[in-house]
Amino acid sequence: MVPELSVVIPMYNEEEVLPLLVERLRPILDGLATSYEVVAVDDGSSDLTAALLQRYHREWPHLRVIRLRANAGHQAAISAGLASALGDYVVTLDADLQDPPEVIPLMLKAAKDDGVDVVYGVRNDRSTDTWFKRVSARAFYRLIGLMSQTSAHSDAGDFRLMSRATVDAVNSLPEHNRVLRFIVPALNFPSDTVEYKRDERAAGSSKYPLMKMIKLSLDSLTGFSTAPLRMATFAGLGGAVLATMLLIYTFVARAQGHTVAGWTSTVAIVSGVGAVQLVCVGILGEYIGRMYAHMQGRPTYFIAYDSLTTVGREHNPT
Ligand code: UDP
Ligand code: MG
Repeated sequence: MVPELSVVIPMYNEEEVLPLLVERLRPILDGLATSYEVVAVDDGSSDLTAALLQRYHREWPHLRVIRLRANAGHQAAISAGLASALGDYVVTLDADLQDPPEVIPLMLKAAKDDGVDVVYGVRNDRSTDTWFKRVSARAFYRLIGLMSQTSAHSDAGDFRLMSRATVDAVNSLPEHNRVLRFIVPALNFPSDTVEYKRDERAAGSSKYPLMKMIKLSLDSLTGFSTAPLRMATFAGLGGAVLATMLLIYTFVARAQGHTVAGWTSTVAIVSGVGAVQLVCVGILGEYIGRMYAHMQGRPTYFIAYDSLTTVGREHNPT
């Protein structure tokens, strides 16, 4: 039977927090008037996470376990869960109870009452984040907003509800190294937000060392912007203009006779070849940008409503 709600939880070495999570999540889900499944994705943990999950799986029939062979990272683990989740609605939740499970029923209600496809969990209080994380996150989201067409709420993480249509759309994207918090808003489904207070990690320590954060930032930037490639084009054109001016100058200097033998041809060759190369690198960059966009396979437009097929909901401004 297809459950109405799936809760996808990525876990990497979360043996300390797992018992607390089950204890707090289960009564909330059992109390819902909807059928549900929990999809726990063990992201190649090396501690007792796998063994504990096996045990909980035996006593909690709604808990499904997926085990990745090696640590693939937070985003990949969520993607694995999304590919396997069956529900009409899917919520993604961190294992460490920083995203309070009590918010799940509110998200579900918002999605149903307002008929939206996505409900973003937005933190109204980041006091549990370090100063460094707050400042770097704000600066980074602003940078992405400037360099790409997409924008994500800077206080939204990966705690969100998605409709089946949204999850199918995400699953159909072929791209690798995806950063869901930018991909989901880029799909432009009707959405709502629910505010929540982000708690401290309930137990254990962060599984996001600086290196993983840098990887996430680079994936976000390169996944959503070809601006760096375009910068190569402009740099190439600018360099070519400078090189051409230098070329002209060498001939003028030669005509005026204040050059040593061999200087004119040497500088002319270096600047001429340099100019051609810079422009060619820019042209390559333009084609790579096109190939990249094609490979990512994101939709180029979104139909909100079509009277012929009555796809979507008619917009009735009142
Ligand atoms: N996580 C994962 N794979 C990883 C790193 C993290 O599945 O390689 C999970 C982790 O178990 C947790 C969630 O991703 O459920 C968020 O990680 P964490 O709480 O450590 O990040 P932080 O809140 O410190 O940014
Ligand atoms: Mg956390």
